[in-house]
Amino acid sequence: MTGGEIEERGGDTLARLLARRIVVDGPLSVGAFMAEALGHPRFGYYTRQDPFGAGGDFTTAPEISQMFGELVGLWCVDTWARLGGPTPFHLVELGPGRGTLMRDALRAAAVVPAFVEGAIVHLVETSPTLRARQRETLGDSVAVHWHDRLEEVPEGPTLLIANEFFDALPIRQVQKTSHGWFERLIDLDPAEGPAATQEAPRFRFVLEAFGSSGSRLVPGPLRDTAPEGSVVEVSPASLSVAGAIGARLAAHPGAALIVDYGYAHGPAVGDTLQALRRHAYAPALDDPGEADLTAHVDFAALAAAARAAGADAFGTVDQGEWLERLGIRQRAAMLSAKATPAQAADIRSALGRLIGPEQMGTLFKALALTTPGVFSGGTAPAGFEPAQAQTE
Ligand code: SAH
Repeated sequence: MTGGEIEERGGDTLARLLARRIVVDGPLSVGAFMAEALGHPRFGYYTRQDPFGAGGDFTTAPEISQMFGELVGLWCVDTWARLGGPTPFHLVELGPGRGTLMRDALRAAAVVPAFVEGAIVHLVETSPTLRARQRETLGDSVAVHWHDRLEEVPEGPTLLIANEFFDALPIRQVQKTSHGWFERLIDLDPAEGPAATQEAPRFRFVLEAFGSSGSRLVPGPLRDTAPEGSVVEVSPASLSVAGAIGARLAAHPGAALIVDYGYAHGPAVGDTLQALRRHAYAPALDDPGEADLTAHVDFAALAAAARAAGADAFGTVDQGEWLERLGIRQRAAMLSAKATPAQAADIRSALGRLIGPEQMGTLFKALALTTPGVFSGGTAPAGFEPAQAQTE
């Protein structure tokens, strides 16, 4: 994380720290603000706390139901088998949260002992709080290697999963004006007085003064066609991770499953930066470090970055559709058969949340990346079969 140059003082908050940084360096890019708000080593949102679950700020698919992780685990087993069952291999998760997805995936994958025995588990996680939580969830029976970055995971055959990871990576925003594209930056709000000494600095969006970097960030076709006033988002950090995954899959047998919320045929025009606090939307620039900050994922851009690095890409398929193809209804029925009436009601409600079109079913999408040529001639990783996708 950047920003280490600004000395911390007693009584600091992240807002005060960022305010002093803006006084010294000028306005921050949206990406720099987001990176600090989420990952600052002392005040970052993910650094300080475990934000998941009913008592937290938001919940995610694996926290809603064990069915999600189980199906992801079975997808990994099936994909690994279709890769020829390379052993040993790296089983990598990016941004594992509480570790629930990996725990459920490994439990389900135990139906194929060679998979679990051959897996070397790597968790890419920057938050020490969440690393401790992952340790607790996974218990001592699984040997786990933690890393700050994907690049630290050793080379070799790889199965990689990332659920709601990319939406937390920093984005940059650019806006079209009558004079061209300008990057949107975050500045102190002058209405609040000499902010560096303020108890609670306030922030606002401004446009960069000279518009030098703005237009370079805008994807080609949009540069001319977007109407004045449009905001376009790009996530260089996400593209760099997608490229690294693609390069890894091009060099060794493997596959990656990326599930997140966002747009399939982006880049879309619009400001999608959003803050979530206690299950409700909050103003994005208020109280940095106190709320989760995310942005829509541009799946087409991720797929393109991975393809450019040599991988094949499949999807996207809507999460609801993908889970149905993998048999989530059958899994729910099996679990319900052994459940009390109250548990059966919970299973039904969880199923609705995961696949319902009004809930996570269509906003969330799955993208698969694989070693080139492994799936060809109309074959695809489970749930990504193109023929089925066309009938939707
Ligand atoms: N996959 C989990 C958690 C999603 S929240 C789930 O589905 O429940 C995002 C996760 O990514 C958190 O674990 C957060 O600490 C981690 N994270 C955010 N930015 C990161 C980064 N730059 N590098 C590594 N991990 C990051």
